[in-house]
Amino acid sequence: MTAAAVFGGSLKWIGVAASYSCRPRNNITGALLSEHGRANAIDVSAVGLGDGRTIPIRGAEAPAVFLAAMRQSACDRFTTVLGPGSDRAHEHHIHLDLARRRGGYRICQWSMPDWVEP
Ligand SMILES: [Zn+2]
Repeated sequence: MTAAAVFGGSLKWIGVAASYSCRPRNNITGALLSEHGRANAIDVSAVGLGDGRTIPIRGAEAPAVFLAAMRQSACDRFTTVLGPGSDRAHEHHIHLDLARRRGGYRICQWSMPDWVEP
């Protein structure tokens, strides 16, 4: 089930905070090339639902059930998911990419607020 389906609705738009950008990881000089530099990553700051609601990734107006469904869906599909709680750079958006790692290693780091039950 998609996160939007939790509300019986549809996804209308995605707020893209960043997409292709030829830069090192976290903009740190000398770091490895970011997946954004390979056109293999997208940063999502909000989503819009068919009923007109805007759901920010971070904020009190983000319904808990929606965030939990979105995290599950993202971590099922992408090999890297970095969101709020992973590090300072990802406090207001979700980084999603399809990096291939040895042994099929995946990263799913997106902490839910305290009011979201596991
Ligand atoms: Zn990113």
